Parts: sequence; structure tokens; C-alpha cells
Amino acid sequence: TSLQELLLSRIQDVPDYPKPGITFKDITPLLADAAAFTALTEALAEICLAQGAQKVVGLEARGFILAAPVAVRAGVGFVPVRKAGKLPGATLGQAYELEYGTAEIEIHADALEQGDKVLVIDDVLATGGTAEASVELIRRAGGEVTGLAVLMELGFLNGRERLTPALAGAPLDAL
Ligand code: IMP
Repeated sequence: TSLQELLLSRIQDVPDYPKPGITFKDITPLLADAAAFTALTEALAEICLAQGAQKVVGLEARGFILAAPVAVRAGVGFVPVRKAGKLPGATLGQAYELEYGTAEIEIHADALEQGDKVLVIDDVLATGGTAEASVELIRRAGGEVTGLAVLMELGFLNGRERLTPALAGAPLDAL
């Protein structure tokens, strides 16, 4: 079977989570399956190497789980983008709009060297708000975003369209 079929077969739809009417894509069965998790890690590491990325940035929290083994596999460093208030050192922050209210993410101000090539990794691209804010934040921290790679893109939410200006030609890969 193809990589796509393998990955899809290990993602579980959870109806009415976290709210009625929302169907949550649960990736924990994929993480628990050694063959699927390894195949995903290798595919993401290939993207990292093909883009010449020098760091991978993982987005809290499931992005950490995917990005960390990719960093090891590709031989590059891992940098976390966290929800506000979680990083101990000096940070840069970026606020973004949610359906109700706003959220803020942070990166350590010295996590990237000026001009560092960075691949951004997350599990699910939904509206694109989190990824858009992350790309902005990484640029402000001195990074050059080589691409965004996600396990799954929820196409009906048009995140790809929203991200087009922020990505400025950098590829969005959804496995
Ligand atoms: P966005 O900002 O609307 O694109 O939402 C993306 C963020 O929310 C990512 O960090 C995802 O981890 C999380 N997310 C949204 N929907 C799902 C889902 O169905 N499954 C897992 N994570 C999700």
C-alpha cells in the first residue's frame, strides 16, 4: 500500500471532539504503530533534506512528537514553538486569531541563527492560523522558512490558501 494509505488507515475520526459538530483527527493510533510512525518520520526527513533545512521547528504539542524524530533522522536541530508562557528564556511572541478570541505562540529569541533554513512541522493543518503565525514568528527570529510539512491537511478549511502569502513560494507538503 502507498504511504498515504498507510497513514490514513492509522488516523482515527473522533466525532464531536473537542466540541459538538467538530470531527477531530486523532493521530495517536499512527504514533502507536511502529511501521506507520517510522514511514512518516522518514518521509518528513526526506523533505527536510531535500529542502536543505538546517533546523526543524515543531509546533506544540503534536508537532513536537513528529518533528523531534525527524530532526534526529535528518541530522538537524529541533526548535520548539510553544504556547505563550512555557519557554524559560527570552522569547519573541506572535498573536493570532482563533474562532473565539486570540492565542499567542512563542519561540526563544536566540533559537535560530540569522539566515537559518527552517522546515516547519505540524500534525494537522486546519484553518492555517497556527502555521501562519509560526512562519511569521520564525522570520522575525531570523529564520528562513524553506517549507511547511504536515501529516494531514483539512482541505475544506482552505488553510493552504490562507498560507499562500506567508509562505511566499515556500512549499506546503501534506503527506
Ligand atoms: P489551525 O491553526 O486552525 O490550522 O489549527 C491547527 C492546529 O490545531 C494544529 O496545531 C493542530 O495540531 C490542531 N488541530 C486542529 N484540528 C485538529 C485535528 O482534527 N486533529 C489534530 N489536531 C488538530
